[in-house]
Amino acid sequence: MRRARTVRTEAVVLRHKDFGEADRILTLLTPEHGKLHAIAKGVRRPTSRKAGHLDLYMRADVFLATGRDLDILTQATTLDAYRPIREGLLRSSYASYCAELLERFTPDGEANAPLYHLMVGALEKIGVEDNLPLIARYYEMHLLGLVGFQPELGTCVVRGEEIQPEDQFFDAASGGVVCPRCGGDGMGRPITMPTLKMLRFLQRSEWAALENLRVRATVESELEQVMLNFITVNLERQLKSVDFLNRVRRIKQTNSN
Ligand SMILES: [Zn+2]
Repeated sequence: MRRARTVRTEAVVLRHKDFGEADRILTLLTPEHGKLHAIAKGVRRPTSRKAGHLDLYMRADVFLATGRDLDILTQATTLDAYRPIREGLLRSSYASYCAELLERFTPDGEANAPLYHLMVGALEKIGVEDNLPLIARYYEMHLLGLVGFQPELGTCVVRGEEIQPEDQFFDAASGGVVCPRCGGDGMGRPITMPTLKMLRFLQRSEWAALENLRVRATVESELEQVMLNFITVNLERQLKSVDFLNRVRRIKQTNSN
């Protein structure tokens, strides 16, 4: 659908790149117009009134004029700067991962308000909470549901048996859990019951359920492997931000030991 010539919307800056002498091209996520690309002219000049309102992962109130190739961003006012994200390398690496995941799974110009609110929720949590891996898992699970890749966790994806409380298999290409009768021999990789239960819990929960949630390190690590495998298999590509995020986490770990 063609948009009106000028729209006012709130938006999250997912990505930006310098363009020309003083401009910047932004990838924005909006609730009603989906993901779009806009040029912010002169934004790199210190005198620009837009400068400082359009940094990465900021949420801003923006005016967009429809351009021929790109929209033109004419005004911007910060709604939330998520300062801790910009000031911490680990937090910004998680934000970058969330932004890349969203970009990869969504076409331009397709409205998905729940996805917008999921992203905003993730940025809020990444800015203040400490259990960043769990926030990432929650975000991944809900994003997959909102873009049509919801993993099946209740019945075997091979023959539809109801999953019993025992260790199972998980097959990313088939879209979810595989029972012990159908699994093995190249059909799925093993997944323990506590990890499967945590995946189900994340899938049916709201953000608030993460508060005070404690997850064993072994489960946390299995959750991460299962989700990353599911995502890369279904995207049919690797995510660039994952390597960087893992490097930052290793540095943090070394420093805290
Ligand atoms: Zn089965």
